[in-house]
Amino acid sequence: QLPAGTRLGRVLRGDARVYHVLIDGEVIQAAPRGRLFEELGEVRTPVAVGDRVAVSLDGDPPGVELVLPRDNYLSKVSSSHDPREQILFANVDQLINVASVGQPGFSSNRTDRILAACEWQEIPASIVLNKVDLDARGDVEGIVETYERAGYEVIQTSAEKREGLERLRAKLDGKTTVLYGASGVGKSTLINELYGMKLKIGKISRFWSQGKHTTTFSRAIPIDGDTWVVDTPGIRVFRLYGLNKGQLRHLFPDFAPYNTKCRFPNCAHDHEPDCAVVNAVEAGELATSRYLSYVEMLDELAPPPEDVATYG
Ligand code: GDP
Ligand code: ZN
Repeated sequence: QLPAGTRLGRVLRGDARVYHVLIDGEVIQAAPRGRLFEELGEVRTPVAVGDRVAVSLDGDPPGVELVLPRDNYLSKVSSSHDPREQILFANVDQLINVASVGQPGFSSNRTDRILAACEWQEIPASIVLNKVDLDARGDVEGIVETYERAGYEVIQTSAEKREGLERLRAKLDGKTTVLYGASGVGKSTLINELYGMKLKIGKISRFWSQGKHTTTFSRAIPIDGDTWVVDTPGIRVFRLYGLNKGQLRHLFPDFAPYNTKCRFPNCAHDHEPDCAVVNAVEAGELATSRYLSYVEMLDELAPPPEDVATYG
């Protein structure tokens, strides 16, 4: 299915001009061919990190001739000045939201936003809660309860005390995993603890930390065999777009038992009377933090296409 004279590779990193592509264990720099730019529409660049691509090696530079269909991808809007999509990564098996307690403290808003984005794109998501050795305030228990209730696996780790690492390794092995998380939560430390030997310490830590605070691009890092880790740029606030207010409640799995019990079947759980979600929050059945994230995200979205007056 590849065009004649091309080789299959996977994109490690890049911007619109040149991509680093792994082909049979070798990193090649290749430039996308002009026709890949033809039908971009709302997307900013033709090739994304994690893409499987066909590369012709004859050219100088070698050319990315074709992007194979993506299994999935996650994108964000480039900026308010440039509303086109920037694809953060493609073709992943899962996303792990890496968070910490202590320093930096756990951000439920940040977590809820990326989990909802993964629900929207149907990317399996889970949570690593790192630095549990710093849990002087006793935050861990409540965080674990909230997210397990929503159906997310929560792996507690301490890179410092080497706790929970084998469970994380089992989760990562053989898969392509996005590690999403604020700077300082311990992503590089965890990867070095788990795979540093295999990757020759120093090499991976340099590769990993190189420009990580300034880069606006993701990188896919081949670790071992079929195990890949994707590092995302430091995104301050992940905003969902391309959906309307009526769709958001389906991206919070813990709301599911209540979504059908509100007085209005299309209740947005915002200001409506007899809202089962609000009642559940007041009864302590749903976490207030989850509800607050939901309401904040709801305010950012466009109204549903149907007549809003049907809310009552
Ligand atoms: P990254 O920005 O997510 O890659 O975070 P780093 O891996 O650079 O870690 C940031 C800081 O947190 C470093 O000083 C690490 O030594 C420290 N750190 C990482 N994991 C742990 C942990 O489990 N416990 C404690 N106490 N510190 C940790
Ligand atoms: Zn409701």
